[in-house]
Amino acid sequence: MLIFIGESSSSHVSPLSARLSNLNEVLIISGQNQTMKIDSHDSKGHAVVILFCLLALLMLSFPTHGEELVDATATYDTNNVFARILRGELPAEIVYESKFALAFHDIRPRAKVHVLVIPKGPYTNILQFNQNASDQERLGLMDAIARTAEIMGVDESGFRLISNTGQDGGQTVPHLHVHLLGGEHVQ
Ligand code: 5GP
Repeated sequence: MLIFIGESSSSHVSPLSARLSNLNEVLIISGQNQTMKIDSHDSKGHAVVILFCLLALLMLSFPTHGEELVDATATYDTNNVFARILRGELPAEIVYESKFALAFHDIRPRAKVHVLVIPKGPYTNILQFNQNASDQERLGLMDAIARTAEIMGVDESGFRLISNTGQDGGQTVPHLHVHLLGGEHVQ
């Protein structure tokens, strides 16, 4: 196997890029001005090339979650993903539903129990909810959180509630949601 590490001669090399040259002969991996060439003619080189291609495919099928952060002052976007779940346009694994709120499993759970509880009304975040929601809606959200904790069996073991708000809070979906995390010691 031939491995070459040296200065990249091309000024067009992206921070991490790779290409196959001479049809499966040499895999060139470039990053940080370093270039690695792997000769795929021998069996080890072949295996490395296959492994690299599989890794590239994996990276393509699991895109990084670099979602845009929501501004705390943003007006409500009626096409956000949770609004679409509420309208039944997108599926969700529902845990609890009432007149005022919906609770469903997070698509990327970060704890054994990870449920999102949302009001049914059009509120971007807790601030807008506090300013504009009726008393019934406020009670409805609180009640839905408590009912969800009971249904998920974490009302005795305990749980954590988080509602990310705005840019610094790391909010990615512009519909008020409360993360309910539990089922284990939450880190
Ligand atoms: P945030 O970062 O805004 O506090 O949380 C948004 C949460 O929504 C994330 O934990 C993310 O996994 C979850 N999420 C994003 N899109 C969907 C979806 O289509 N379905 C469900 N169930 N959860 C989603």
